[in-house]
Amino acid sequence: MVTIAERLNLAYARVEKAAQQRTDDLITEHPVTILAVSKTKPIELIEDAYAHGHRQFGESYVQEAVDKIILLKSKKDIEWHFIGPIQSNKSRLVAEHFNWVQSVDREKIARRLNEQRPTNLMPLNVLIQVNISADKNKSGCQLEILDELAEFIHNSRQLNLRGLMTITEQTNDKNKQLQYFQQMKACFDRLKDQYPQLDTLSMGMSGDLEPAIAAGATMVRIGTDIFGSRK
Ligand SMILES: *Cc1c(COP(=O)(O)O)cnc(C)c1O
Repeated sequence: MVTIAERLNLAYARVEKAAQQRTDDLITEHPVTILAVSKTKPIELIEDAYAHGHRQFGESYVQEAVDKIILLKSKKDIEWHFIGPIQSNKSRLVAEHFNWVQSVDREKIARRLNEQRPTNLMPLNVLIQVNISADKNKSGCQLEILDELAEFIHNSRQLNLRGLMTITEQTNDKNKQLQYFQQMKACFDRLKDQYPQLDTLSMGMSGDLEPAIAAGATMVRIGTDIFGSRK
């Protein structure tokens, strides 16, 4: 059986290789962080990854995630990222338990997270999820409201705007995929001119991480390749 440690090492190597193939103007940018997406997977596998030195984990279902976070409370250096859709009635749990949230796509949710983030915790790190392919079935904000939402988050005391996230439309058209990622990078650079502290562009998953890294991703979210396929 292939262990989680071996799978993680393969993922590190794959990301490293893709990062080395980037063009010169990108090569000096931030190293690419791997978010290990552990949704639906048992806590033992997260512990295996932790024992191997991995610290960044992503979850998509609020209640499942909170249960795991509480069980793993003693591992204080885990960085928990919420990457799933956020319903209003679940925002408090996200605000109270996570270090990052990558899926903020509307002001209403940003406002709630800001109000609900306990003041004894560091501000919640936020990525705005952008629906770059304007896909009706995908969440994420439309480009037209991005600036307004970024400004709102920037002005929220308990939120720390760190960058952008996207999930692109499933397509076998490699050029189109690359174009979406390049459009995201352009949006990110434009916002960064305004908010120089932005440092995270989260895009690319097990199936499309090479084009995402080629375009300038600073974080890729890998589930299947690390933890195996999901039911
Ligand atoms: C599940 C999920 C992933 C991981 O996808 P894989 O294809 O299993 O690597 C990445 N990002 C988000 C937002 C997800 O929900």
